[in-house]
Amino acid sequence: MKFVCSECGDCCRDFGHGPGLNLFYWEAKMFEEYYPFPVLYDKKNKQTIALFWNSRINNCPLLNKNKCIKYEDRPLVCKAFPLLNSGLISGKDFSFSLGCSQEKLLEKIAKKINSEKDENKRIEIMKEAFDDTFLALLQLELTRNFIYRELEKMEDKGLIKIDDSLNKISENIVDVFDLMLKTGHISKDKLKEIIDNIQNLKDARNYLNKKT
Ligand code: SF4
Ligand code: SF4
Repeated sequence: MKFVCSECGDCCRDFGHGPGLNLFYWEAKMFEEYYPFPVLYDKKNKQTIALFWNSRINNCPLLNKNKCIKYEDRPLVCKAFPLLNSGLISGKDFSFSLGCSQEKLLEKIAKKINSEKDENKRIEIMKEAFDDTFLALLQLELTRNFIYRELEKMEDKGLIKIDDSLNKISENIVDVFDLMLKTGHISKDKLKEIIDNIQNLKDARNYLNKKT
């Protein structure tokens, strides 16, 4: 069973009804306005850490006649749409976004995936049904995990101190990847490698290679 996008463009419109696009800082620059979301407050350095950025748009300006004008370089969250959860990282069921007009087909595929007990077989079904969209979702999930893991490491090193009760936007806002660099947690070359791995879905490919 294969997912076929009808190219209706619905997922690029009316973000006012949903959470919008969650972007990495290098992706947010494709848009005129964006704000940090979600954030954490670092009380050691009195700064807000932006884990992601959200574009202030309702209808994506990059959509032209139902086609994305930046299709090859579109944000990872767009590459992963309409998938929400692979079930591989979080342990929850596979799930998809209700905002996709191919809902009926997605429901059938989801049923097939979630009724399969064997993880490798689930992976094969997801690969077959979604191809690179599945890889993009996996990359997104692995990157989210990576961000939280590195924040913990930075905290252990005493570089930051997260205040769990205070997720406020302060005057000082720093992107989480910039923070890793500025604190010396990672080098410039390492950051380049991390971003390259994310953009080219390398972490997702490596993860699957080890699994299967
Ligand atoms: S960047 Fe492209 S794929 Fe993403 S919402 Fe905009 S038009 Fe759609
Ligand atoms: S809403 Fe679904 S079917 Fe329509 S363009 Fe987006 S992914 Fe494709």
